Amino acid sequence: MREGATAPWPDDPPVCSTCGLRQDRFETWYGWWIFLEPVFLHVNLVPVELRWTVDSEERAVNWACADSECQVPHDAVCGRADSPVHVGTEILEIWEMNRRAAAPGA
Ligand SMILES: [Zn+2]
Repeated sequence: MREGATAPWPDDPPVCSTCGLRQDRFETWYGWWIFLEPVFLHVNLVPVELRWTVDSEERAVNWACADSECQVPHDAVCGRADSPVHVGTEILEIWEMNRRAAAPGA
């Protein structure tokens, strides 16, 4: 799982293949694409491995996140995925929000 960099490439619509939600898609420096949740959290609320930021060239990076805020990959909080573990309330709330949005008829 390339750290959640599993988004379809730009020829395909920016939609999560699991939950169907439209996402913001960014290219990584290694050429894969990732969906990042459009929510900014203080880095202290996010486990190191889930901290992503978008650099000045519009590429997603999860190393050298020197900012005080970061984003999490959609894969970690996809509403059709299992509840994320070892994360704080704020990330669980994003997952809950996605779960409701992905629910049929919601
Ligand atoms: Zn999803």
